[in-house]
Amino acid sequence: MKIVIIGASFGGVYCALEARRLYPDAEIMIIEKNEQLAFLPNGLLLYLQGVYENLADATFISKETLMKNNIQLRLQEIFLSCDGQEKTLQTDCGTYMYDKLVLATGSTQQSKVIELQEEEIYHYKTYQAAKYLLPKIEEAQEITLIGAGQAGMEAASVFIELGKKVHLFEAMDYPLFKYFDQDFLTPFLAALEKIPQLDLRLNQRITQMDQEELSELILTTVNVHPTETMSDVLATHSDLTIQTNDFLETSQKDIFAVGDLIQIPFTLTNEKIYLPQINHAVRSGMTAAANLVKPTKKFRGGLRMIGTKIFGWYLASVGLLESEAFLYPKKLMIKTTVIPASITSKETLYCKLIIERKTQRLLGVQLLSQANCLAIIERCGWVIQQEMTIEALLEQDFFFQSQYSSTLAFLNDLFVGCDTDEI
Ligand SMILES: Cc1cc2nc3c(=O)[nH]c(=O)nc-3n(C[C@H](O)[C@H](O)[C@H](O)COP(=O)(O)OP(=O)(O)OC[C@H]3O[C@@H](n4cnc5c(N)ncnc54)[C@H](O)[C@@H]3O)c2cc1C
Repeated sequence: MKIVIIGASFGGVYCALEARRLYPDAEIMIIEKNEQLAFLPNGLLLYLQGVYENLADATFISKETLMKNNIQLRLQEIFLSCDGQEKTLQTDCGTYMYDKLVLATGSTQQSKVIELQEEEIYHYKTYQAAKYLLPKIEEAQEITLIGAGQAGMEAASVFIELGKKVHLFEAMDYPLFKYFDQDFLTPFLAALEKIPQLDLRLNQRITQMDQEELSELILTTVNVHPTETMSDVLATHSDLTIQTNDFLETSQKDIFAVGDLIQIPFTLTNEKIYLPQINHAVRSGMTAAANLVKPTKKFRGGLRMIGTKIFGWYLASVGLLESEAFLYPKKLMIKTTVIPASITSKETLYCKLIIERKTQRLLGVQLLSQANCLAIIERCGWVIQQEMTIEALLEQDFFFQSQYSSTLAFLNDLFVGCDTDEI
């Protein structure tokens, strides 16, 4: 069996590795248009923070690992089209036969709405773009970012740490709106107002870039959107994501699509939504690999889990928000609490929980602290996925150590007492 995968990032690489495990005799090839494989989307920021000595090191896997797994890699080769009847595909370097084709061409950070000058690069998700922008960023005193989502806020935080002034434009009335309720962010938003180098402009939708008016360097940190791959041949949704069935097969037989190219089931509501995240790309890549020969494994989708450190604050979120309560068919209740991050800690942990009122099942968690609370969000995600109720949670065995935890484990502690706010 000849398996060809387009795109050597999270979805493509993990599809190839899983295919190698499942089909030891298969011929597996990945085609990637960039000179660098497996570049981390925030690789540029990690390099600027001194995490990596070279920009090219900001990757999650090496060529050697792929070679050891007998996976052929063709870099700097662009996939152009494919013929689903003949089972051939065309790149800028030649024509290949395939038995199974996996599209993992992901997403782009380039804005679709803003008018851009063609010769300039405004985003840094790929190695090539990051390499081009690096000297410009190092030189610039003032940088304009468009979009105050996770990517924009992380970039603003790093650039300000480097001593730059940042103008940050956001169309919504608060930053990080996809992951947090506005009221929950109050202490964080108040802290942002005290940062003199941050010029945060809310409720401002930019549609045109005017270098003179904005600043010497402008970057789009807007939401990503799917790379247009074979959208003329394959059935797509209105947002140009490729339509797939539960087994990640597209409208053409033996062609699969994964990662940021597709919509995925949101575990809590079962609707399909665009949730471009690394974990979803990795898991969908591995699920597609399992289904290449016959449909065996449904893709379970995900919960939308993030965690990040911005301006010295740790923020994490998983599952349903209060602002999305209208999407959930049953009545909810909300619990907000402020507790010490651990028994010995002077730092505060702000928490907001979304709970199904009748069953007391946990559906969403938001966390905010100046202490590192990121690891807890995984446990919260696990509890939500297990459909655990508060009763069941209180019976769980968690570890205790005064410097690292509260009396009961974090989630259990929150349910002692009765101070819930009903909605
Ligand atoms: C700045 C930024 C920060 C982010 N941080 C996080 C984070 O902290 N956590 C998280 O979960 N998610 C994060 N994301 C989202 C994450 O980057 C994506 O969900 C993830 O990269 C998707 O992986 P993928 O394999 O589907 O596609 P991509 O990573 O987009 O990769 C697609 C690959 O296909 C290649 N390709 C495209 N077209 C062709 C073609 N025609 N021929 C050959 N090759 C082609 C591309 O060069 C690329 O290598 C971030 C995104 C951005 C922009």
